[in-house]
Amino acid sequence: MVKVRHILSLSGGKDSAALAIYMRDRVAEMEYIFHDTEKELPETYEYLARLESVLGRPIVRTSPTDSFDHWLSVYGGMLPSNHRRWCTRMLKLKPFEAYVGRDNVINYVGLRADEPRIGYISTKPNIKAVYPFREDGLVRADIVRILEDCGLGMPTYTEWGRSRSGCFFCFYQQKIEWVRLKERHPDLYEQAKHYETESAARGVNFTWSQSESLTELERPERMAAIKLNREVVEARKKASRKNLSLAETLGGLDNDEPSESDGCLICSL
Ligand code: SF4
Repeated sequence: MVKVRHILSLSGGKDSAALAIYMRDRVAEMEYIFHDTEKELPETYEYLARLESVLGRPIVRTSPTDSFDHWLSVYGGMLPSNHRRWCTRMLKLKPFEAYVGRDNVINYVGLRADEPRIGYISTKPNIKAVYPFREDGLVRADIVRILEDCGLGMPTYTEWGRSRSGCFFCFYQQKIEWVRLKERHPDLYEQAKHYETESAARGVNFTWSQSESLTELERPERMAAIKLNREVVEARKKASRKNLSLAETLGGLDNDEPSESDGCLICSL
């Protein structure tokens, strides 16, 4: 009989963590893995360590063949972006496929029933993706309950307003998340800024955040404007979700921002 491996990739985010807990007693031979870019938030590493102890199972760290800095150099100093997402390919997908090899694998993905996103579909014929939350109709509230019931709770980066796991410099961050990163982890903000400076020195001049550099974004008046903008959005959200769409359309808010549902699934679920 052909052996099939069961693999669940953790991102350090709430959905894949909840899926790990959900599947723990359903698939005894599950392999839990985490693709470490070595550029994650400290809160993510801490969350994974706690998850490991709640699961009572080891989480295997896959390492890319080469570091982010190596690949950045290979790509000519071109910072990754939504349209140039070499980071996901080189630091997450390739290590995943190398870990799987030629084995037949069922890959468990934490997409919820209330999400419109499409999961990572491997082009490899030996990897079959399955979506237990979707199949069982579990939505966000169910995921929060699973995490609370097991004592793990939400990732602690959510306490300071970061919405997703992934690299500290991830270009899917909203502008308000850059502001919060600067306030919470000024050293990481400086590192992200340094990547922009180096990119500019090589003449490629890419920025992490759309239409402005991190040096521009950290100006006190700009940070204050981003915060104010967020307060307005939050207030309108509370008042009415319907009105929010209209306000975003007409009100000149940062509506070109990535939303919580954007981002690459292997990094942020
Ligand atoms: S988290 Fe963002 S920057 Fe990191 S690998 Fe994923 S898409 Fe790229």
